[in-house]
Amino acid sequence: MYPKVFQQLIEHFSSLPGIGPKMAERLVLFLFKGEKEKCANFAIALGHLKDLQNCSLCFNIAQDDKCLICRDKNRDAGKICVVEEALDIIPIERTKSFSGLYHVLGGTLETNKVTGSDLTIPQLLSRISDTNITEVVIATNLTTEGDVTALYLKRKMDPLNITITRLARGLATGSDIEYADDMTLKSALTNRAKM
Ligand SMILES: [Zn+2]
Repeated sequence: MYPKVFQQLIEHFSSLPGIGPKMAERLVLFLFKGEKEKCANFAIALGHLKDLQNCSLCFNIAQDDKCLICRDKNRDAGKICVVEEALDIIPIERTKSFSGLYHVLGGTLETNKVTGSDLTIPQLLSRISDTNITEVVIATNLTTEGDVTALYLKRKMDPLNITITRLARGLATGSDIEYADDMTLKSALTNRAKM
């Protein structure tokens, strides 16, 4: 039997995606053997996660009501790039090929049927109606789920009189934006095509 704290930590780690009980044991042992100071800082940083929230405009991860991108006055507020998850924003930002704002859907139509959580499509549509958006770049992943979601979005946005584009097919089919290399993503953005 492990001491209670050790056992509890194993359970916390096992609850993370992709980590089984054996791996959880090894991780906790690793932390136990390491510097106690580092562990304490790790715990403090974890505790601060509760201070973060979703940006009230684009649903990116934010420290305050609005995320850093939405608060940046130098961004082109006429363009919105729609992504599945907040993690997709970083690789797109790295390409320096997009200077507009973002909108995080929170998944795809398919995955959200499973999880039951709602996508932020209604909020996207009202953003477009309420502000002077001229172009929406759909940057969902080039997977079946991403494609279905992109087509659904296009149908919903068609009556709104804006340019709707999608990342060019330079990205391999089935690929995730999150893992795309900078050059490929940059060319997919630059060569984005009208839907
Ligand atoms: Zn934002």
